[in-house]
Amino acid sequence: MKIGIFALQGAFLEHRQALEKLGVETVEIRRRAHFTDKLDGVILPGGESTVQGKLLKDEGLFLPLREAIGGGMPVFGTCAGLILLAKKLTNDENVWLAAMNVSVRRNAYGRQLGSFRAELDTAHIGAYPAVFIRAPYIESAGEHVEVLAEHEGKIVAARQENMLATAFHPELTSDLRIHEYFCGMIRGADRT
Ligand code: GLN
Repeated sequence: MKIGIFALQGAFLEHRQALEKLGVETVEIRRRAHFTDKLDGVILPGGESTVQGKLLKDEGLFLPLREAIGGGMPVFGTCAGLILLAKKLTNDENVWLAAMNVSVRRNAYGRQLGSFRAELDTAHIGAYPAVFIRAPYIESAGEHVEVLAEHEGKIVAARQENMLATAFHPELTSDLRIHEYFCGMIRGADRT
């Protein structure tokens, strides 16, 4: 299994380390040539979504990525990656890949609560120690979206078919179960 990690900006290295601990081969995607059909899945890391969205476009990666996701390529977005996947942002005029049927609020916890930890009861996984950093949350989820975890009534992890997204950063803890879950999605993927 080979997973591509978008490495234009943000916390990509930690995803790489997490996957390598699981024995998964990784490739950093910085340019169009790195995004090949040899990849079994991709990760959109945390960071700054506006910067990442613009860089994806500048590098000619945006449309091929959108097409691949539409074709069933497994994708895992964390934090800014969730923002890039969302069909709607409730407090931002941008919409990026518009792939996942969720409305997302950016920086939803305000300045006071820039970053925090919380233990989440996560579907398929159980108790999970989540790290949030200037995190978004999912305000509402539409058709085909399975809610995987909530924090104080707000959705913070979800799956829609080939797409997995978390508002928090599983790559910043030593608990690899969410990355493992994504690898399981890849093994079961039905790609067109
Ligand atoms: N606040 C960032 C954004 O809106 C996301 C934060 C993160 O990825 N840690 O893009």
